[in-house]
Amino acid sequence: MITFEEALSVVNSIPVKPLAEKAGLDEAVGRVLAEDIFSDVEMPPFNKAAVDGYACRRSELPGPFEVLEVVPAGRLPQFIVGLGQCSKIMTGAMVPDGADTMIMVEHTGTLADGKILFLKEKTSSNIAWRAEDVKEGQLVLTSGTLLRPHHIAILASVGCDKPTVFRRPVVGIISTGDELVEPSEKPALGQIRNSNAWQLMAQARAIGLPVEYIGIAADTKESTSQLIASGFDRSDILLLTGGVSMGDFDFVPEVLDELGVSIQFKSIAVQPGRPTVFGTRDNKFLFGLPGNPVSSFVQFELLVKQLAFRMMGHRYKPQTVKLPMASEYIRKKAERKSFIPVRINAEGKIEPLEYHGSAHIHSYEGADGMLSVEIGENHINAGELRDVRQL
Ligand code: AMP
Ligand code: MG
Repeated sequence: MITFEEALSVVNSIPVKPLAEKAGLDEAVGRVLAEDIFSDVEMPPFNKAAVDGYACRRSELPGPFEVLEVVPAGRLPQFIVGLGQCSKIMTGAMVPDGADTMIMVEHTGTLADGKILFLKEKTSSNIAWRAEDVKEGQLVLTSGTLLRPHHIAILASVGCDKPTVFRRPVVGIISTGDELVEPSEKPALGQIRNSNAWQLMAQARAIGLPVEYIGIAADTKESTSQLIASGFDRSDILLLTGGVSMGDFDFVPEVLDELGVSIQFKSIAVQPGRPTVFGTRDNKFLFGLPGNPVSSFVQFELLVKQLAFRMMGHRYKPQTVKLPMASEYIRKKAERKSFIPVRINAEGKIEPLEYHGSAHIHSYEGADGMLSVEIGENHINAGELRDVRQL
Protein backbone atom coordinates (compact mmCIF):
# COMPACT_ATOMS: atom_id res chain seq x y z
CA MET A 1 0.00 0.00 0.00
CA ILE A 2 1.34 3.43 -0.95
CA THR A 3 0.28 6.86 0.25
CA PHE A 4 -2.05 9.00 -1.78
CA GLU A 5 0.80 11.46 -2.46
CA GLU A 6 2.94 8.59 -3.81
CA ALA A 7 0.10 7.41 -6.05
CA LEU A 8 -0.37 10.94 -7.35
CA SER A 9 3.30 11.23 -8.10
CA VAL A 10 3.26 7.92 -10.03
CA VAL A 11 0.34 9.16 -12.14
CA ASN A 12 2.03 12.50 -12.64
CA SER A 13 5.36 11.07 -13.74
CA ILE A 14 4.24 8.22 -15.99
CA PRO A 15 5.45 9.09 -19.52
CA VAL A 16 2.70 10.31 -21.85
CA LYS A 17 2.85 11.34 -25.49
CA PRO A 18 0.41 14.15 -26.16
CA LEU A 19 -0.60 14.40 -29.83
CA ALA A 20 -1.76 17.60 -31.49
CA GLU A 21 -4.56 18.46 -33.89
CA LYS A 22 -6.33 21.59 -35.16
CA ALA A 23 -9.59 22.82 -33.64
CA GLY A 24 -11.95 25.56 -34.83
CA LEU A 25 -12.74 28.44 -32.47
CA ASP A 26 -16.22 27.03 -31.94
CA GLU A 27 -14.81 23.78 -30.53
CA ALA A 28 -11.64 25.01 -28.81
CA VAL A 29 -13.00 25.82 -25.35
CA GLY A 30 -11.86 23.23 -22.79
CA ARG A 31 -9.00 22.12 -25.06
CA VAL A 32 -5.33 22.67 -24.28
CA LEU A 33 -3.16 24.78 -26.58
CA ALA A 34 -0.33 22.89 -28.24
CA GLU A 35 1.40 25.99 -29.65
CA ASP A 36 2.47 29.45 -28.55
CA ILE A 37 0.25 32.16 -30.02
CA PHE A 38 1.64 35.51 -31.19
CA SER A 39 -0.33 38.57 -32.15
CA ASP A 40 -0.42 39.54 -35.84
CA VAL A 41 -1.74 43.02 -34.95
CA GLU A 42 -1.33 45.81 -32.43
CA MET A 43 -4.06 46.16 -29.82
CA PRO A 44 -5.64 48.61 -30.00
CA PRO A 45 -4.74 48.94 -33.68
CA PHE A 46 -5.12 52.77 -33.55
CA ASN A 47 -5.74 55.47 -30.92
CA LYS A 48 -9.28 54.57 -30.05
CA ALA A 49 -12.03 56.58 -28.38
CA ALA A 50 -13.09 54.90 -25.15
CA VAL A 51 -16.21 57.10 -24.80
CA ASP A 52 -18.69 58.93 -26.98
CA GLY A 53 -17.56 62.55 -27.00
CA TYR A 54 -15.37 65.23 -28.53
CA ALA A 55 -11.70 64.82 -29.45
CA CYS A 56 -9.77 67.99 -28.60
CA ARG A 57 -6.53 69.35 -27.15
CA ARG A 58 -6.30 69.17 -23.37
CA SER A 59 -4.33 72.43 -23.22
CA GLU A 60 -7.35 74.22 -24.67
CA LEU A 61 -9.93 73.01 -22.14
CA PRO A 62 -12.66 74.06 -21.42
CA GLY A 63 -13.08 75.37 -24.98
CA PRO A 64 -15.26 76.49 -26.70
CA PHE A 65 -14.49 74.24 -29.67
CA GLU A 66 -15.75 74.36 -33.21
CA VAL A 67 -16.93 70.86 -34.40
CA LEU A 68 -15.08 69.70 -37.55
CA GLU A 69 -16.87 66.41 -38.26
CA VAL A 70 -18.63 63.35 -36.80
CA VAL A 71 -16.66 60.08 -36.85
CA PRO A 72 -18.60 56.81 -36.31
CA ALA A 73 -16.79 53.55 -35.38
CA GLY A 74 -15.25 51.92 -38.46
CA ARG A 75 -14.71 55.22 -40.35
CA LEU A 76 -11.56 57.28 -40.61
CA PRO A 77 -11.39 60.92 -39.48
CA GLN A 78 -10.93 63.37 -42.34
CA PHE A 79 -9.52 66.34 -40.40
CA ILE A 80 -6.64 67.09 -38.07
CA VAL A 81 -7.83 68.75 -34.87
CA GLY A 82 -6.24 72.18 -34.50
CA LEU A 83 -6.50 75.07 -32.05
CA GLY A 84 -10.08 75.80 -30.99
CA GLN A 85 -11.34 72.72 -32.81
CA CYS A 86 -12.80 69.32 -31.94
CA SER A 87 -14.41 66.36 -33.72
CA LYS A 88 -17.36 64.34 -32.45
CA ILE A 89 -16.17 60.73 -32.09
CA MET A 90 -18.12 57.57 -31.23
CA THR A 91 -16.79 54.90 -28.88
CA GLY A 92 -14.42 52.61 -30.76
CA ALA A 93 -13.68 55.10 -33.55
CA MET A 94 -10.23 56.45 -34.40
CA VAL A 95 -9.17 59.61 -32.58
CA PRO A 96 -8.00 62.19 -35.16
CA ASP A 97 -4.42 63.44 -35.23
CA GLY A 98 -3.95 66.64 -33.31
CA ALA A 99 -6.26 65.59 -30.46
CA ASP A 100 -5.00 64.13 -27.17
CA THR A 101 -8.19 64.00 -25.10
CA MET A 102 -11.76 62.82 -25.45
CA ILE A 103 -14.27 64.80 -23.39
CA MET A 104 -17.43 62.85 -22.70
CA VAL A 105 -20.68 64.02 -24.31
CA GLU A 106 -22.29 64.01 -20.84
CA HIS A 107 -19.74 66.58 -19.64
CA THR A 108 -20.30 69.12 -22.40
CA GLY A 109 -22.77 71.82 -23.37
CA THR A 110 -23.55 73.27 -26.79
CA LEU A 111 -23.42 77.06 -27.18
CA ALA A 112 -25.82 79.11 -29.35
CA ASP A 113 -23.26 79.19 -32.18
CA GLY A 114 -22.95 75.38 -32.11
CA LYS A 115 -19.57 75.35 -30.35
CA ILE A 116 -18.85 72.80 -27.60
CA LEU A 117 -17.92 73.76 -24.04
CA PHE A 118 -16.46 71.39 -21.41
CA LEU A 119 -18.46 71.73 -18.18
CA LYS A 120 -16.28 69.78 -15.70
CA GLU A 121 -13.06 70.59 -13.87
CA LYS A 122 -11.02 67.55 -14.92
CA THR A 123 -10.99 64.68 -17.39
CA SER A 124 -8.81 61.70 -18.13
CA SER A 125 -7.76 61.24 -21.75
CA ASN A 126 -10.46 58.60 -22.44
CA ILE A 127 -8.28 57.30 -25.26
CA ALA A 128 -7.04 53.70 -25.58
CA TRP A 129 -3.62 54.29 -27.14
CA ARG A 130 -2.39 52.34 -30.11
CA ALA A 131 -0.53 49.13 -29.05
CA GLU A 132 -0.90 49.87 -25.33
CA ASP A 133 -2.35 46.37 -24.74
CA VAL A 134 -0.39 44.23 -27.20
CA LYS A 135 2.50 44.86 -29.62
CA GLU A 136 2.63 43.17 -33.01
CA GLY A 137 4.47 39.83 -32.70
CA GLN A 138 3.92 39.68 -28.93
CA LEU A 139 3.38 36.28 -27.26
CA VAL A 140 -0.24 36.29 -26.09
CA LEU A 141 -0.93 32.64 -25.11
CA THR A 142 1.47 29.82 -24.30
CA SER A 143 1.35 26.14 -25.17
CA GLY A 144 -0.25 24.20 -22.31
CA THR A 145 -2.96 26.78 -21.62
CA LEU A 146 -6.34 25.23 -20.88
CA LEU A 147 -8.58 27.33 -23.11
CA ARG A 148 -11.36 29.14 -21.28
CA PRO A 149 -13.88 31.51 -22.87
CA HIS A 150 -11.70 34.63 -22.39
CA HIS A 151 -8.81 32.86 -24.13
CA ILE A 152 -11.09 32.32 -27.13
CA ALA A 153 -11.48 36.12 -27.36
CA ILE A 154 -7.69 36.49 -27.38
CA LEU A 155 -7.34 33.88 -30.14
CA ALA A 156 -10.05 35.58 -32.18
CA SER A 157 -8.50 39.03 -31.71
CA VAL A 158 -5.13 37.90 -33.07
CA GLY A 159 -6.66 36.08 -36.03
CA CYS A 160 -5.97 32.53 -34.81
CA ASP A 161 -9.15 30.77 -35.91
CA LYS A 162 -7.72 27.24 -35.95
CA PRO A 163 -5.41 26.83 -32.97
CA THR A 164 -3.34 23.68 -32.60
CA VAL A 165 -4.56 21.85 -29.50
CA PHE A 166 -3.73 18.53 -27.90
CA ARG A 167 -5.78 15.50 -28.76
CA ARG A 168 -8.14 14.45 -26.01
CA PRO A 169 -7.76 10.92 -24.69
CA VAL A 170 -10.78 8.67 -25.28
CA VAL A 171 -12.08 7.29 -22.00
CA GLY A 172 -13.38 3.71 -22.10
CA ILE A 173 -15.67 2.59 -19.30
CA ILE A 174 -16.46 -0.93 -18.07
CA SER A 175 -18.56 -1.87 -15.07
CA THR A 176 -18.13 -5.31 -13.58
CA GLY A 177 -20.58 -7.33 -11.55
CA ASP A 178 -23.36 -9.90 -11.97
CA GLU A 179 -25.54 -7.86 -9.62
CA LEU A 180 -25.68 -4.87 -11.97
CA VAL A 181 -28.64 -3.76 -14.08
CA GLU A 182 -28.79 -0.62 -16.21
CA PRO A 183 -30.63 2.47 -14.86
CA SER A 184 -33.74 1.90 -17.01
CA GLU A 185 -34.35 -1.42 -15.27
CA LYS A 186 -35.95 -2.02 -11.89
CA PRO A 187 -33.47 -4.09 -9.87
CA ALA A 188 -34.74 -7.50 -8.70
CA LEU A 189 -33.83 -8.63 -5.20
CA GLY A 190 -30.05 -8.86 -4.95
CA GLN A 191 -29.44 -6.55 -7.90
CA ILE A 192 -28.36 -2.91 -7.95
CA ARG A 193 -28.36 -0.29 -10.66
CA ASN A 194 -25.14 0.45 -12.49
CA SER A 195 -24.58 4.01 -11.34
CA ASN A 196 -20.80 4.03 -11.68
CA ALA A 197 -20.52 3.79 -15.44
CA TRP A 198 -22.93 6.68 -15.93
CA GLN A 199 -21.25 8.76 -13.26
CA LEU A 200 -17.80 8.18 -14.82
CA MET A 201 -19.10 8.98 -18.31
CA ALA A 202 -20.49 12.24 -16.91
CA GLN A 203 -17.21 13.06 -15.15
CA ALA A 204 -15.26 12.47 -18.35
CA ARG A 205 -17.70 14.47 -20.46
CA ALA A 206 -17.70 17.32 -17.93
CA ILE A 207 -14.04 17.92 -18.81
CA GLY A 208 -14.70 17.47 -22.52
CA LEU A 209 -13.35 13.94 -22.94
CA PRO A 210 -14.86 11.62 -25.55
CA VAL A 211 -16.32 8.48 -24.01
CA GLU A 212 -16.65 4.86 -25.14
CA TYR A 213 -19.04 2.85 -23.01
CA ILE A 214 -17.86 -0.74 -23.28
CA GLY A 215 -20.57 -2.24 -21.05
CA ILE A 216 -21.03 -4.45 -18.01
CA ALA A 217 -18.68 -7.42 -17.60
CA ALA A 218 -20.14 -10.47 -15.94
CA ASP A 219 -18.25 -11.90 -12.98
CA THR A 220 -16.49 -14.53 -15.08
CA LYS A 221 -12.92 -14.50 -16.22
CA GLU A 222 -13.95 -14.80 -19.88
CA SER A 223 -16.34 -11.87 -19.86
CA THR A 224 -13.96 -9.67 -17.86
CA SER A 225 -11.08 -10.52 -20.19
CA GLN A 226 -13.10 -9.97 -23.36
CA LEU A 227 -14.41 -6.56 -22.31
CA ILE A 228 -11.02 -5.33 -21.07
CA ALA A 229 -9.34 -6.38 -24.34
CA SER A 230 -12.01 -4.60 -26.35
CA GLY A 231 -11.80 -1.60 -24.01
CA PHE A 232 -8.07 -1.26 -24.69
CA ASP A 233 -8.75 -1.25 -28.44
CA ARG A 234 -11.38 1.46 -28.17
CA SER A 235 -9.86 3.89 -25.66
CA ASP A 236 -6.72 5.59 -24.37
CA ILE A 237 -7.68 5.55 -20.70
CA LEU A 238 -9.69 2.51 -19.70
CA LEU A 239 -11.73 2.77 -16.50
CA LEU A 240 -13.05 -0.29 -14.78
CA THR A 241 -15.22 -0.30 -11.73
CA GLY A 242 -15.57 -3.16 -9.32
CA GLY A 243 -13.95 -6.55 -9.30
CA VAL A 244 -10.64 -5.27 -7.99
CA SER A 245 -10.94 -6.31 -4.36
CA MET A 246 -10.34 -9.69 -2.76
CA GLY A 247 -13.67 -11.41 -3.49
CA ASP A 248 -13.95 -14.86 -5.10
CA PHE A 249 -15.31 -13.26 -8.28
CA ASP A 250 -12.89 -10.34 -8.49
CA PHE A 251 -11.12 -11.45 -11.67
CA VAL A 252 -9.72 -8.11 -12.69
CA PRO A 253 -6.16 -8.48 -11.25
CA GLU A 254 -5.71 -11.93 -12.86
CA VAL A 255 -7.03 -10.76 -16.24
CA LEU A 256 -4.84 -7.65 -16.24
CA ASP A 257 -1.84 -9.85 -15.64
CA GLU A 258 -2.76 -12.11 -18.57
CA LEU A 259 -3.31 -9.12 -20.87
CA GLY A 260 0.19 -7.86 -20.12
CA VAL A 261 -0.85 -4.79 -18.16
CA SER A 262 2.03 -3.46 -16.13
CA ILE A 263 0.65 -2.63 -12.69
CA GLN A 264 2.05 0.60 -11.20
CA PHE A 265 0.12 0.36 -7.93
CA LYS A 266 -2.89 -1.51 -6.63
CA SER A 267 -3.60 -0.19 -3.20
CA ILE A 268 -3.58 3.35 -1.80
CA ALA A 269 -3.84 4.45 1.83
CA VAL A 270 -6.82 6.59 0.94
CA GLN A 271 -10.47 6.55 1.86
CA PRO A 272 -12.57 6.02 -0.16
CA GLY A 273 -10.71 4.15 -2.87
CA ARG A 274 -8.12 1.89 -1.26
CA PRO A 275 -8.17 -0.90 -3.89
CA THR A 276 -7.45 1.46 -6.79
CA VAL A 277 -5.34 -0.14 -9.51
CA PHE A 278 -3.26 1.80 -12.00
CA GLY A 279 -1.65 0.03 -14.94
CA THR A 280 -0.10 0.72 -18.31
CA ARG A 281 -0.07 -1.25 -21.55
CA ASP A 282 1.87 0.21 -24.48
CA ASN A 283 0.72 3.84 -24.61
CA LYS A 284 -2.59 3.08 -22.93
CA PHE A 285 -3.61 3.42 -19.31
CA LEU A 286 -5.98 1.60 -17.03
CA PHE A 287 -7.58 2.49 -13.73
CA GLY A 288 -9.30 -0.29 -11.85
CA LEU A 289 -11.58 1.68 -9.55
CA PRO A 290 -13.42 0.23 -6.58
CA GLY A 291 -17.04 -0.74 -7.17
CA ASN A 292 -18.59 1.62 -4.67
CA PRO A 293 -19.79 4.74 -6.44
CA VAL A 294 -18.30 7.29 -4.04
CA SER A 295 -14.90 5.62 -4.38
CA SER A 296 -14.92 5.68 -8.16
CA PHE A 297 -16.20 9.27 -8.16
CA VAL A 298 -13.47 10.47 -5.79
CA GLN A 299 -10.65 8.57 -7.52
CA PHE A 300 -11.69 9.96 -10.88
CA GLU A 301 -11.47 13.46 -9.38
CA LEU A 302 -8.13 12.80 -7.68
CA LEU A 303 -6.21 10.63 -10.15
CA VAL A 304 -7.94 10.08 -13.50
CA LYS A 305 -8.33 13.83 -14.11
CA GLN A 306 -4.60 14.35 -13.51
CA LEU A 307 -3.68 11.77 -16.13
CA ALA A 308 -6.30 12.90 -18.65
CA PHE A 309 -5.04 16.49 -18.50
CA ARG A 310 -1.41 15.40 -18.68
CA MET A 311 -2.27 13.50 -21.87
CA MET A 312 -3.60 16.84 -23.12
CA GLY A 313 -0.37 18.64 -22.24
CA HIS A 314 -1.74 20.38 -19.16
CA ARG A 315 -1.02 20.21 -15.42
CA TYR A 316 -4.43 20.04 -13.77
CA LYS A 317 -4.70 22.02 -10.55
CA PRO A 318 -7.88 21.52 -8.55
CA GLN A 319 -9.67 24.66 -7.40
CA THR A 320 -9.48 25.01 -3.64
CA VAL A 321 -10.80 27.56 -1.19
CA LYS A 322 -9.57 28.08 2.39
CA LEU A 323 -12.40 28.44 4.89
CA PRO A 324 -13.06 27.93 8.62
CA MET A 325 -14.71 24.78 9.93
CA ALA A 326 -18.30 25.38 11.10
CA SER A 327 -17.98 22.67 13.75
CA GLU A 328 -15.40 20.22 15.00
CA TYR A 329 -14.76 17.00 13.07
CA ILE A 330 -13.78 13.76 14.76
CA ARG A 331 -12.92 10.34 13.34
CA LYS A 332 -11.89 7.16 15.15
CA LYS A 333 -9.56 5.58 12.62
CA ALA A 334 -6.85 7.64 10.98
CA GLU A 335 -4.68 5.13 9.09
CA ARG A 336 -5.70 6.52 5.72
CA LYS A 337 -5.97 9.93 4.23
CA SER A 338 -9.66 10.50 3.74
CA PHE A 339 -11.79 12.71 1.56
CA ILE A 340 -15.18 13.64 2.94
CA PRO A 341 -18.06 15.54 1.32
CA VAL A 342 -18.66 19.02 2.71
CA ARG A 343 -20.89 21.93 2.02
CA ILE A 344 -20.10 25.61 2.36
CA ASN A 345 -22.83 27.16 4.47
CA ALA A 346 -24.39 30.62 4.25
CA GLU A 347 -21.69 32.05 6.58
CA GLY A 348 -18.94 30.72 4.33
CA LYS A 349 -17.97 27.94 6.76
CA ILE A 350 -17.23 24.27 6.09
CA GLU A 351 -19.91 21.81 7.17
CA PRO A 352 -19.08 18.10 6.83
CA LEU A 353 -22.12 16.27 5.43
CA GLU A 354 -23.64 13.11 6.82
CA TYR A 355 -21.58 10.40 5.18
CA HIS A 356 -21.95 6.64 5.78
CA GLY A 357 -19.10 5.48 3.58
CA SER A 358 -18.20 4.70 0.01
CA ALA A 359 -21.61 3.35 -1.08
CA HIS A 360 -23.41 6.49 0.14
CA ILE A 361 -23.56 8.43 -3.11
CA HIS A 362 -26.54 10.45 -1.85
CA SER A 363 -24.26 12.17 0.69
CA TYR A 364 -22.76 14.03 -2.25
CA GLU A 365 -26.14 15.41 -3.30
CA GLY A 366 -25.59 18.82 -1.69
CA ALA A 367 -21.79 18.75 -1.59
CA ASP A 368 -19.83 21.81 -2.68
CA GLY A 369 -16.51 20.08 -2.30
CA MET A 370 -14.30 17.61 -0.48
CA LEU A 371 -12.22 18.07 2.63
CA SER A 372 -9.11 15.98 3.04
CA VAL A 373 -8.16 14.61 6.45
CA GLU A 374 -4.54 13.49 6.79
CA ILE A 375 -3.15 10.19 8.03
CA GLY A 376 -2.93 10.36 11.84
CA GLU A 377 -5.39 13.22 12.01
CA ASN A 378 -8.34 12.32 14.25
CA HIS A 379 -9.66 15.71 15.06
CA ILE A 380 -10.22 19.08 13.39
CA ASN A 381 -11.22 22.04 15.58
CA ALA A 382 -14.19 24.27 14.89
CA GLY A 383 -12.92 27.49 13.34
CA GLU A 384 -9.75 25.84 11.95
CA LEU A 385 -8.94 27.02 8.43
CA ARG A 386 -8.98 24.20 5.87
CA ASP A 387 -8.81 23.87 2.11
CA VAL A 388 -11.97 22.69 0.41
CA ARG A 389 -11.41 21.07 -2.96
CA GLN A 390 -14.30 22.33 -5.04
CA LEU A 391 -16.44 20.01 -7.15
P1 AMP B 1 -16.73 -4.84 -5.96
O1 AMP B 1 -15.55 -3.89 -5.98
O2 AMP B 1 -17.01 -5.44 -7.29
O3 AMP B 1 -16.59 -5.84 -4.86
O4 AMP B 1 -17.98 -3.93 -5.60
C1 AMP B 1 -18.05 -3.23 -4.37
C2 AMP B 1 -19.45 -2.69 -4.15
O5 AMP B 1 -19.76 -1.74 -5.15
C3 AMP B 1 -20.52 -3.76 -4.22
O6 AMP B 1 -21.51 -3.46 -3.26
C4 AMP B 1 -21.10 -3.56 -5.61
O7 AMP B 1 -22.41 -4.01 -5.72
C5 AMP B 1 -20.97 -2.08 -5.81
N1 AMP B 1 -20.85 -1.78 -7.24
C6 AMP B 1 -20.01 -2.40 -8.09
N2 AMP B 1 -20.14 -1.90 -9.32
C7 AMP B 1 -21.07 -0.95 -9.27
C8 AMP B 1 -21.65 -0.08 -10.22
N3 AMP B 1 -21.27 -0.12 -11.49
N4 AMP B 1 -22.59 0.81 -9.81
C9 AMP B 1 -22.96 0.84 -8.52
N5 AMP B 1 -22.45 0.05 -7.57
C10 AMP B 1 -21.53 -0.84 -7.91
MG1 MG C 1 -18.05 -7.01 -8.05
